[in-house]
Amino acid sequence: MSESAATTESAIAEAAALLRASSHAVALTGAGLSAESGIPTYRGTGGVWTRFGEPTIDGWDLFCTDPGAWWREALDHSHAGSEFAESIDRAVPNAGHIAMAELERMGRLAHIITQNIDNLHEDAGSRAVTEIHGNRRRVRCMNCGTRDRLDLISLDRLPPTCPECGGILKNDTVMFGEPIPDDALRMCYRQAAAADLFLVVGTSAVVYPAASFPILARERGAPLIEINPEPTELSHIASIVVRASAGSALPDIVELLRR
Ligand code: NAD
Ligand code: ZN
Repeated sequence: MSESAATTESAIAEAAALLRASSHAVALTGAGLSAESGIPTYRGTGGVWTRFGEPTIDGWDLFCTDPGAWWREALDHSHAGSEFAESIDRAVPNAGHIAMAELERMGRLAHIITQNIDNLHEDAGSRAVTEIHGNRRRVRCMNCGTRDRLDLISLDRLPPTCPECGGILKNDTVMFGEPIPDDALRMCYRQAAAADLFLVVGTSAVVYPAASFPILARERGAPLIEINPEPTELSHIASIVVRASAGSALPDIVELLRR
């Protein structure tokens, strides 16, 4: 076995031991977890932004100025399709998502905070999930915060309105400049405060406030496990670093916990 393979194997064993000893483990996941489902990341090797540059930051302003025009534009574009959107529509959970759902069923993982908008944690069977950046398959009322499935609402009149209160519906995905919805943010702070172990999986940890939750947990004494093939902003405060893909490391951890 090569030196790096041995290092990875022992990091995986240590991660499993920490999970076994914890009573409220919380995970923050990012685009890297869904990379093995065929959805490109934004940053990192092969990321959409690494290849094509960052997009302009005006979505939220456009929506606030004219929600009807925003919806018309979004629906027109959805017919044209984009490589990124199509990859999300096609994607199914990979071994990493499935292992995380299994960790929840085994009572080893209390909650997942995900930055992903692809619904793959739910598709894999995870139940305790907070989608801090929203969900591409849902809409959210700008007035009362109620979320609905996008495919169930009428788009005959734009912008669509909330069946509960008549407020304007927006896609649930949080745009640049848009505040994180209160309910999601409160749950993230509650989980960061309750965590006695924190897993950081497939995120470059540069987007805030998402990246602040593992930092808060670490400051309160919770050990941090990072699973990412590349170094991140959080690597230096991680107790255990697993330099491997989520789809290979997480099933190995589950396997060790079953023994
Ligand atoms: P990011 O693109 O900034 O970083 C991805 C990270 O994943 C990198 O550190 C990379 O090294 C790592 N990675 C790549 N392949 C991996 C693998 N197989 N296993 C484990 N790690 C791997 O992603 P981010 O930190 O989540 O931030 C990007 C923002 O973009 C998020 O806010 C998210 O909302 C959004 N986003 C979502 C999706 C999605 O829903 N699947 C995809 C792209 C971007
Ligand atoms: Zn409403």
